[in-house]
Amino acid sequence: MPELFVAGEWRSALAGETREVVNPYDGRTFTVVDEAGAADAEAAVLAARAAFDAGTWPSTPVAERAALLERTADLLQRDREEIARTETLDTGKTLAEARIDVDDVTAVFRYYAREALVEVDRTVDTGRDDVLSRVVHHPVGVCSLIAPWNYPLLQMSWKVAPALVAGNAVVLKPSEVTPLSTVHLVRLLAEAGVPDGVVNLVLGGGAAVGPTLTSHPAVDLVSFTGGLATGRGILKAAADTVKRVTVELGGKNPNIVFADVDLEVAVDTVLTGVFLHSGQVCSSGTRLIVEESIADDLVAGVVERARRIRFGSGLVDGVESGPLVSAQHREKVEAYVTLGLEEGATLLTGGRRPDDPDLQRGFFYEPTVFDGCDRSMRIVQEETFGPILTVERFRTEAEAVALGNDTTYGLAGAVQTLDVDRGDRVAAALKHGTVWINDFGPYVPQAEWGGQRMSGNGRELGPSGLAEYRESKHVWRNTRPAAPGWFTGS
Ligand code: NAD
Repeated sequence: MPELFVAGEWRSALAGETREVVNPYDGRTFTVVDEAGAADAEAAVLAARAAFDAGTWPSTPVAERAALLERTADLLQRDREEIARTETLDTGKTLAEARIDVDDVTAVFRYYAREALVEVDRTVDTGRDDVLSRVVHHPVGVCSLIAPWNYPLLQMSWKVAPALVAGNAVVLKPSEVTPLSTVHLVRLLAEAGVPDGVVNLVLGGGAAVGPTLTSHPAVDLVSFTGGLATGRGILKAAADTVKRVTVELGGKNPNIVFADVDLEVAVDTVLTGVFLHSGQVCSSGTRLIVEESIADDLVAGVVERARRIRFGSGLVDGVESGPLVSAQHREKVEAYVTLGLEEGATLLTGGRRPDDPDLQRGFFYEPTVFDGCDRSMRIVQEETFGPILTVERFRTEAEAVALGNDTTYGLAGAVQTLDVDRGDRVAAALKHGTVWINDFGPYVPQAEWGGQRMSGNGRELGPSGLAEYRESKHVWRNTRPAAPGWFTGS
């Protein structure tokens, strides 16, 4: 069955092109998908435009749109194992993580089914008894939804669920590296009864289909999650037609640990924060900022645990970590390790591919810890998006906060301390979109997610994540029309 979905039909690419999808565990091609080009992207945009302008979806009662999300959530749970397996084959992550992803995606659909019913239109008191003034909300129109490869279905769900329930028509563009779970999702949306043209899917490289999705005059909104360089290009591409744009970009996320913590808990929190999904997490806690008095003990504990992480196929029980997503991405991570050494950081563990003969075909890389880092190093400032932890030490709370904010990014950060007041103070001072106190990583659909500074603009999740997909309009009704009488001509 072809994998592009345009105007309610499954199609092959107009130019007949295809792309091999590679399993990062063994480097083998495990399936081939259709590969869209600019003409397919344009067809998808125009199908969405027609569905939005002439179709019924924008004016369908919100309760019916919410019901479609609920049906989709049920179908996601019906196909949970199949989708999780697909995500594991495509990304290399463990099946346990992929199952959590499907459950999280389901929760996002259910959350927005409920949240959409919260009344946001309002009556405004103008101070005049001859005027009825209301602020009402409409869907924005045609939305291009562009997602990355690290959490393919999860990141897409944060966009597609609110966009649809708000009444928009959408074009989905998953990463060309990991397209399969989004294909499955679109099949489920079709099965749940989404009208033709309201959901369209193009697979393909960003350079080929991206410009159409981000600059076509028929597109009203672009929601993008991915890297900083791509995000900058998208902001420019969307500027000529002044589209609404949300960009969720990278991060360089500090994990600040004070000396009063329980050391074992802190070691585990640091380890999970940075090495989950091999560090291929936008909010990964890649920058350990630790109080000097416990630094050696904490770092020794992290190194010891990092060496024991069990690699393998994400499909096998007991495997704790999969490979990096692609050969190309591993090369990028390796280049950062070389850079770290050149910059004078001390390599404590990792910095190499594992020796295990069973792992040679895949794109595995050992968890890597660099001590002796400082803020002037690129390895400390740039997003490596791999299993690399850098360690910096501090003496005072002020110093810890200054280090935690010394990044151009502002996605997420954390503080580990048993001093409640200090936890609150540091959380207040950190300039990041999410701050965890005594934790690292959790999120819920009800709470906004997004970046400050160069981690992006706009928000996903929570009520704000729905507001992105709604236009507001002020409607002023004069109930006793009379001549304004401003110009008398005399
Ligand atoms: P990427 O920027 O390379 O690609 C992201 C998506 O953009 C892909 O679908 C890609 O095909 C598409 N794309 C590429 N060029 C395009 C163009 N010119 N026009 C339109 N689309 C284009 O990012 P990636 O490597 O897939 O993902 C990793 C990045 O994503 C990391 O920087 C990570 O921090 C970030 N990320 C951020 C969040 C967040 O919530 N802020 C979440 C997950 C990932």
